[in-house]
Amino acid sequence: MNDPKTYVTQPWLPPLEEFLPYLEQIWQNRILTNNGPFHKRFEAALCEHLGVEHVSLFCNGTIALVTALQALGIQGEVITTPYSFVATAHSLLWNRIEPVFVDIDPNTCNLDPQRIEAAITPRTTAILPVHCYGTPCAVAEIQAVAERHDLRVIYDAAHAFGVRHGGRSLLAHGDMSVLSFHATKVFNTFEGGAVVCRDAQAKAQVDYLKNFGFANEVTVLASGINGKMSEMNAAFGLLQLQHVARAIELRARIDARYRERLAGLRGVHCLPRADVDADNHAYFPVLITAGGDTRDRAYDFLKAHEVYARRYFYPLIPDFPMYRHLPSAAASNLPVAGRVAQQVLCLPIYPDLPLERVDEICRLLGRALELPHAA
Ligand SMILES: *Cc1c(COP(=O)(O)O)cnc(C)c1O
Repeated sequence: MNDPKTYVTQPWLPPLEEFLPYLEQIWQNRILTNNGPFHKRFEAALCEHLGVEHVSLFCNGTIALVTALQALGIQGEVITTPYSFVATAHSLLWNRIEPVFVDIDPNTCNLDPQRIEAAITPRTTAILPVHCYGTPCAVAEIQAVAERHDLRVIYDAAHAFGVRHGGRSLLAHGDMSVLSFHATKVFNTFEGGAVVCRDAQAKAQVDYLKNFGFANEVTVLASGINGKMSEMNAAFGLLQLQHVARAIELRARIDARYRERLAGLRGVHCLPRADVDADNHAYFPVLITAGGDTRDRAYDFLKAHEVYARRYFYPLIPDFPMYRHLPSAAASNLPVAGRVAQQVLCLPIYPDLPLERVDEICRLLGRALELPHAA
């Protein structure tokens, strides 16, 4: 078999020649980090691109999440989703906050807004939802619940770069939204992340917490961390911004091709397209609905043919040892998330993936589902 290996994603890089002038500039400036010129330019350009007003750049999305929770003074219990990357819940543990898992909506794979209220206790201080796969959460319902109970809302928007919803950026919702610019994401700075804040005061708070707590040269206001983004990453981000629209266009073609080729394939359910003004086509999740171990056999079959699909998100976060003991981690509390985790398969999607390879992946998936079941 001479097929190239196909991974679920491949980082999107601009031509190397385009980055060299940025590097020369950094060498001339001799400023490598600490809110240097590229950092300032990238922050401003990102605000413009995303349609938000206050952004604080970070070295990665996880430290950005941890810091956003600290900036808002979150403690006690926080309601969150079991169906996400483990960093979502880890950001709570790093703040000694207890995660309270609430089940998801099967159509969006996001927190089910109908179930949030029942999980609120006197210790609840916030909700930490995830816009899973870039699909918007039920932002209006979540806001209403938060207002009724005086809770803060922090969105893990690691999948939601550039998504627009109801005429504005999805990142404008909640008290803060957190982005990841990890190499595997739609928009990357090798490693990186950001916190989107509502006002200048909140941004100032986040800014000093990511810089050891320094308010100025001689004043340390809190036991802050080092979460700063370097000039190299910021310069790369500035360049990437020029290419990201094209990258998303190419992803959209792949998304459409999958939907066309998978329509009518029995046992495969494509999650409905998000109801948005601008999508980012970050992932292409399907549910393998035949039951039993069909999903895992399909995953293995694709892998044997050098197609490395991923089971995002399996296992569920509450199944990991540091969460398992929590009352809300019980499988009986999370039936929908449990079922989706058994069925989901994220198929390869990235700008350079040829459409012929998409067709091939769909044929392979069809063959995988025809295989006889194990007795
Ligand atoms: C990628 C990701 C993170 C973590 O971001 P890093 O930049 O890798 O630290 C957090 N939450 C979700 C949902 C993610 O997909």
